[in-house]
Amino acid sequence: MTPLPPDFYASWRQRDRRPAGAVEDSPAGPPERWLQQIWRHQRLRRAELTGHDGRPVRVLHPGFWNRGPGPDFQRAVLQFGQDAPVSGDVEIDLNLSGWHQHGHARNARYHQVILHVVWDLPTPDRQPPVLALRPFLDAPLAELAPWLDDEAAALLPVETLGQCCAPLAAVNAGTLAALLQQAARVRLQRKAGEFAIHARHVGWERALWVGLLGALGYRHNTWPMRRLAEIAAELDGHPSGEPATRAAVPVWEARLLGLAGLLPSQLPAGDNAPYAKTIWDSWWRERDALADRILPAATWQLAGLRPANQPQRRLALAARWLAAGDLPARLQAWLSEPPTAGRAFVAQLLATLSGPAEPDDFWAHHWTLRSRRFARAQPLLGAPRVTDLALNVVLPWLHARATIGGHATLLGEIERRYFSWPASEDNAVLKLARDRLFGPAPRALPRTAASQQGLLQLTRDFCDQADARCAGCRFPDLVRALPVQPIHAG
Ligand code: SF4
Repeated sequence: MTPLPPDFYASWRQRDRRPAGAVEDSPAGPPERWLQQIWRHQRLRRAELTGHDGRPVRVLHPGFWNRGPGPDFQRAVLQFGQDAPVSGDVEIDLNLSGWHQHGHARNARYHQVILHVVWDLPTPDRQPPVLALRPFLDAPLAELAPWLDDEAAALLPVETLGQCCAPLAAVNAGTLAALLQQAARVRLQRKAGEFAIHARHVGWERALWVGLLGALGYRHNTWPMRRLAEIAAELDGHPSGEPATRAAVPVWEARLLGLAGLLPSQLPAGDNAPYAKTIWDSWWRERDALADRILPAATWQLAGLRPANQPQRRLALAARWLAAGDLPARLQAWLSEPPTAGRAFVAQLLATLSGPAEPDDFWAHHWTLRSRRFARAQPLLGAPRVTDLALNVVLPWLHARATIGGHATLLGEIERRYFSWPASEDNAVLKLARDRLFGPAPRALPRTAASQQGLLQLTRDFCDQADARCAGCRFPDLVRALPVQPIHAG
């Protein structure tokens, strides 16, 4: 073996790793993600932290790092001076001006911000309080730089693990899986109960449409999509879902896009113009009659959306469902298809939901009415969204109907599908839950959607009721009370 200098690997690894921003007095300042890591791991002289108003800032919990839209850290617990501790969000920007430049002041997502953290240059008389990190680092930035780029900085700080983490580590895999399964059942029953209550007021089919369109809003645009479903049901005129004449796809598309306020005020130029004109021509015929129901632009959250999640494209899908009108019946029929399992469920439901929803040439190649044409045709609905619809809408809705109707066999089939549904795509909420509950030693959880749903239900039932320090959470006691069984690997 060729001998190497003793520090060959370490010095090779460090070579060229220090970016220009590592020096404190660099005009550009350090990368913002470094500031996020510094805050997340509290690489600060914490006892000395002082806000722009001279009051001490005590960080009782730095909050949870948010990779999505909104403030950088959520649910932090801070104490300003002698005030009582407060819980809220923390936004981190390189400069103070970021607050206005990035539009935080006008964005409702930032209304819970209790601290604006910047690299330098605090100024007085502004809200929220400001804390500059630069004077309080626990080591010079150049010294921190290698650690900030290391995997260790990417882990959840050990101080922010949940208080349930240690007792959960003593629970064996089978018991943990059973616990998640039970939590998943609670979640299914809760969602089904919500459908039953809604259906009592508006009917089963309207409740389904509201659920489906709300789910197509995908977190950011749930409420405007739900509202559009309500309006669509009113336009259809029959809560029973049996209108005398059913509008065609282009009419529904124009209605939904027009009611959403998402039609561009000027016809786009180029290849998109003929299609947009068709939509506009249809919308003009109904616009005056529907003017009082048009949603204001402020109801939509469009910034930062993935192209595939753009509401215009989601509404094109909804237009096809509404024009066909037989989706509720198709979903009931799906439940009667020959028993199968796992991924076949997904394929069957995808076929059921896609049947009336084939995109035309325009939507097969565009994300919005203005976007450029992409080469490879894309369906309006893919498998990940089908799983989301199945878990949050289709199965709970069918479960509610079967429960009310007393159909024990159907209930069994619905639960069989729910508990064997393959896992959905991972997301930030699940990742944070795993990090807090299980810590750096990952547990091998069942690779099913129900296991994920169970984890989400646990966070809803316990994490969402406690603050970031787990104060008052009863889950650790519940875990300690679980029957003791030997732990097997994983
Ligand atoms: S709030 Fe409760 S369930 Fe959530 S991490 Fe803390 S101890 Fe665990």
